[in-house]
Amino acid sequence: MKNKSLSLIKPYFLEQRPRILFGVVSLIIVDFLQLAIPRVIKQAVDELTLFRIDAAALWRYSFYILLLGIAIGGFRYVWRYYLIGASRRVEEGLRNQLFSHLQILSPAYFDRTQTGDLMAHATNDVMHIRMAIGMGMVALTDALVLGTAAIGFMLYINVELTLLALLPAPFIVFGARFFSKRMHTAYGNVQASFSDLTEAVRERFAGIRIIKAHHREAFERERTATVSRRYIAENIQLAKVIGAFFPMMLFFSNLSLAIVLYLGGRQTIFFTITPGDFVAFISYLNLLTWPMMAMGWVTNLIQRGKASLDRIQKILLTAPLIADAPDALSVPDLAGKITFQNVSFSYRSAEATQDHAIDGIDIQLVPGQTLGIVGPPGSGKSTLLSLIPRLYDVSKGRLLIDDKDIKTLKIRELRSQIAFVPQEPFLFAGSIRDNILMGNSGADDSHMISAAEAAALHRTVTKFTDGYDTIVGERGVILSGGQKQRVALARALMKDTPILLLDDPVSQVDTETGTAIIQTIRAMAAGRTTIIASHRLSALRFANRIIVLENGRITESGDHEALMALNGYYAKTYRMQEIEETLHAD
Ligand code: ADP
Repeated sequence: MKNKSLSLIKPYFLEQRPRILFGVVSLIIVDFLQLAIPRVIKQAVDELTLFRIDAAALWRYSFYILLLGIAIGGFRYVWRYYLIGASRRVEEGLRNQLFSHLQILSPAYFDRTQTGDLMAHATNDVMHIRMAIGMGMVALTDALVLGTAAIGFMLYINVELTLLALLPAPFIVFGARFFSKRMHTAYGNVQASFSDLTEAVRERFAGIRIIKAHHREAFERERTATVSRRYIAENIQLAKVIGAFFPMMLFFSNLSLAIVLYLGGRQTIFFTITPGDFVAFISYLNLLTWPMMAMGWVTNLIQRGKASLDRIQKILLTAPLIADAPDALSVPDLAGKITFQNVSFSYRSAEATQDHAIDGIDIQLVPGQTLGIVGPPGSGKSTLLSLIPRLYDVSKGRLLIDDKDIKTLKIRELRSQIAFVPQEPFLFAGSIRDNILMGNSGADDSHMISAAEAAALHRTVTKFTDGYDTIVGERGVILSGGQKQRVALARALMKDTPILLLDDPVSQVDTETGTAIIQTIRAMAAGRTTIIASHRLSALRFANRIIVLENGRITESGDHEALMALNGYYAKTYRMQEIEETLHAD
């Protein structure tokens, strides 16, 4: 179980194998080229001290160093390109995988998961995995190859000197480990406070109209300033950790240098080693600082990446609550018969009988019929509609379409034959055209315009300078509530489906526009099974049947005339709205 999450990135490694191999080989070449420089210096210094060198030879050695420098630069470019590139591919793949999976999860998952957390998985966790792979491979290779080889060359020069020079090494390794952990924590806090800050600012701007209307600018400024101060404090904390880390590392590497300078110098004086060896030894020691730090860093890097990988895997293993049965039926041509058989639904759990949003509903609609749903807010109208495209599954009872339990149908086919206009229309930040078409690339303009006309939207759109290309802004901010509702309606009308579900389609338009929209819906309802929830009762008069929902239960049922005769909730509300509308008209 423990290492299972590694299987998540294995395919990427296999796919990137040639790149990774190329990168690691280049990295090892760089390491050995770096190790060659002290050898050249040794030669030059030894010949210099024996006065055996001429200008031409000096030129030659300088030229070697230059060549080595160029080659190191070239191969560094290559490993960076391939190794960091490979880690970026993994990042991309994992993020796409995560997004695709989140998209198939059911609405219930998002009811209990915060968007901010999902964003953190898609950014921070994926970044940690990328770092663990990219820099992890680099640090590991350097620690092993450069570290071992440098120590090897040093041992070759002088064993005793090497052992003494390495005395401070554990402090560097464990210091790097200690500090990289603290840096990670501090960095995490910086990121968290930064996302708080952006979220605070984003929310304040989203609600700028409310803030102004309530004259809360000063209050909000202070609240945002508090979040901002925390962000700065976290950054200073991080700066302190980094500030302590580098001098500490420098101290221990200078300690090694001091040991070598004193003891190595003595050995040179006593001819145990040559002056060239002495200088080369110091160069190796310099080369060794990074691999020692890498050794401490890499374990932390990998632990962090593994933890992130586990978190991502947990999401990827979350099965959607609502998914196709293995033997799901294909239903490309639904007629549109809808049957609720004693259907109950609870947002919490199937067992919690007290808080059913929908309770013991029985409905039968033959294809082409229209059902109206009325009832006070919170009575379960939206919930009832959302059960039909299986946004949520019924907790008890059965919901049948064309006499088949919807749990046995292919979800994709079921949903593609339902046009659904939700109560709060959601618009994406593109143009009006994009929002009506919603990726329906097969549709032409005349089709779109007739849908817009039917939704009483076309005339409004032609008044905009850019017409259908008008960019609606974030969540359709430049449109009024009623205009958004009509865009959502046009979007649904584009889909020629046997089932049409409308959740309060005229809640935000004036009576006149509402009447026009209802005319369209009436025309469309002919030949489709239509369910309309509406608090404006006159909009439902034409329905074949109307039900009144109260606390999730049907309390009244019948056509308009029957319900008026019943003189219950429907009749009273209808008369009240009639008076209101007359008053408005006056
Ligand atoms: P209506 O459409 O008639 O206003 P709803 O179907 O929206 O009523 O709500 C019915 C009940 O279900 C209400 O008590 C509401 O609080 C609850 N409810 C609605 N959506 C959710 C949800 N996503 N999670 C939990 N409870 C919900």
